[in-house]
Formats: sequence, structure tokens, C-alpha cells
Amino acid sequence: MQHGVAGTVQYVYAVHDIKKGEQLCVHYTSLYEPRRVRQQALLQEKFFTCACERCSTPIEQSVDRFLEVRSSTQHAAFVCMYV
Ligand SMILES: [Zn+2]
Repeated sequence: MQHGVAGTVQYVYAVHDIKKGEQLCVHYTSLYEPRRVRQQALLQEKFFTCACERCSTPIEQSVDRFLEVRSSTQHAAFVCMYV
């Protein structure tokens, strides 16, 4: 898929095969950020609350649960470095 904007070209690479007619989405935030960080950025910068499948899935069933753990672990490691 190519998308041109004012003389520039952006390339988008798929991580899986795309079926004909399948909806493609472009994310506005880093997908590696915890859910609360992504949603806060979207609300402040794009003025909407994301209701995509990932954001709507209960956190304990979502891949986001791993990012929440990673985030708190990194924070703890950061604190320990200065003790
Ligand atoms: Zn979302």
C-alpha cells in the first residue's frame, strides 16, 4: 500500500497477509506504549477515546497486560538505579 501526501510517499508494511476487502488501520501512537499512555495521548492530541478491539478487550485478556507489567518494572528499575 502506498499513500501520497503533498508530494511525499509513505510506505506501509504488513506483518501478515492482507485479505481482499480487509480494513487497514494506521495507528496514531506507538503500539508498544501501555494502554493508558496511548489513550491519554489520543484524547489530548486527537480528541477521541479509542474503542478499537485492543483497547476494548479487558486488560487481563489483552496483550496490553504485558505492557503494563513492563512499564511498572522499568519504573522500578529506574528507581533502583538511584538508591
Ligand atoms: Zn485502541
